Amino acid sequence: MAKRETSKTPLRVLSVASEMYPFVKTGGLADVVGALPAALRQHGVEVTTIIPGYRAVLPKTKAASKHQGDLITLAQGDAGGSGLVLAANVPAAFDRAGGPYIDENGFDHPDNLSRFSTFAQRAAEVAAGLYRDLSAFDIVHAHDWQAAAVVGHLHHILKGRPLPTVFTIHNLAFQGRFGGECFQDVGLPASYFDRDWFEFYGDVSLLKSAVLRATKVTAVSETYAAEICGPAQGFGLNELLAGRGADLVGLVNGLDTAVWDPETDPALPLTYTSRTAAKGKAAAKAALQSQFSLETSAEKPLFGLVSRLSDQKGIDLIAAQIDGLVFRGAQVVILGSGDPGLAASLAAKARQHPTQVAFTEGYSEALSHLIHAAADFLLVPSRFEPCGLTQLSAQRYGAVPIVSPLGGLVDTVIDANPAALRAEVGTGIILRSVDPEGLGTALNRALALYNHDPEAIAQVIENGMSADVGWHASAAGYAALYRSLL
Ligand code: ADP
Repeated sequence: MAKRETSKTPLRVLSVASEMYPFVKTGGLADVVGALPAALRQHGVEVTTIIPGYRAVLPKTKAASKHQGDLITLAQGDAGGSGLVLAANVPAAFDRAGGPYIDENGFDHPDNLSRFSTFAQRAAEVAAGLYRDLSAFDIVHAHDWQAAAVVGHLHHILKGRPLPTVFTIHNLAFQGRFGGECFQDVGLPASYFDRDWFEFYGDVSLLKSAVLRATKVTAVSETYAAEICGPAQGFGLNELLAGRGADLVGLVNGLDTAVWDPETDPALPLTYTSRTAAKGKAAAKAALQSQFSLETSAEKPLFGLVSRLSDQKGIDLIAAQIDGLVFRGAQVVILGSGDPGLAASLAAKARQHPTQVAFTEGYSEALSHLIHAAADFLLVPSRFEPCGLTQLSAQRYGAVPIVSPLGGLVDTVIDANPAALRAEVGTGIILRSVDPEGLGTALNRALALYNHDPEAIAQVIENGMSADVGWHASAAGYAALYRSLL
């Protein structure tokens, strides 16, 4: 465990993000932003978080229903919880139907550039101490493209006087890129539409401005930090990223082990520890089979998938393997939402094998937790993966993760090859390549372990359940990074 920081005055960080669990979540970004405040408090860092005041996060009580004021307090920042959480109240931008980024019909909100630039401007003003009784912060930590413009706005507000900024890339595929003619929506003088700031091949790129100008840039795993400096994963920003040299740092995400704890999880029929995992997981499997009218069988290996349905996540590769898995006696349970074409292909597989395959299109924390508990294996064959969280939650719940050989997946899973089994350190199965053959071979290995080597698979489950998938190490890393900037 990392050494505790002894400094008496806490360092004050403003975390700026478009999602934060439990207030609003579409993916891992929310989990990370939600977990960091408590993890960092142990290192003498006091985090205040600001998110957009989406309709879904605004207080629903009558007294608060007018949503007056520019900032709304969502959480007060008690000692054990999430820290102070503020919502930037900009009704014209955020008090509307739909999700954070897309409308009810699945299209991007057309004014996303101005929505998130306004949010970033408000956050910069808070950081600079221009709001209420909040004095200026020591450091601003912005996450992903939706918060990236905070670096430019802060520069503008403070007229170039430095306030250190950390910018974290959770997924380089999303860059906040808009036509150059829209630059005025960023809300900054035209001089910022420049190669040194927001201009990128004639377009506006919010992400690029922060990649170039934040004091430090972090990526959510060491391997991903290296991968994005190359053309294959750099999405056109690789040279800029490589140019940041030692100012680009990889810090792997952790899991909120209070939210993901099979010992206390209310979503499970029977809670369990690593000692009682066999019983707890059997109860979860029976519950899941009954919920989806699958054949009731304790023996059949169950493969789980909880994911956004997108090309990134290799969902098409999984769909192509389902017939073979069922033929070899396995069951598959899938929870996901996203690409309608991928959803249709999974729904077709569930109709084809109604007693062995279940597909739920949608988003459900409770079902996700139950699948983690019930599954013998959890599938993560991503084409790229900045960090990934489900391979961590899978380990914690005793579901053996089957993952691609890249990004944060290789930083958090140890392949259970014969040498690792001998050394008793394996925690999952790593594909040799992200293609049908690579996934097929990995599934064969999984079935061989499950069917023929009960001791080995018990060892892999036990290793995964006792692995340190929490925040200790990386929170210490962030705290050290912040302090290096003062
Ligand atoms: P990404 O952020 O790229 O979607 P991550 O693995 O980093 O992928 O994080 C995804 C998070 O969202 C995990 O906590 C995962 O359990 C959760 N998640 C994804 N899809 C769903 C869903 N349909 N229902 C519930 N949770 C989901």
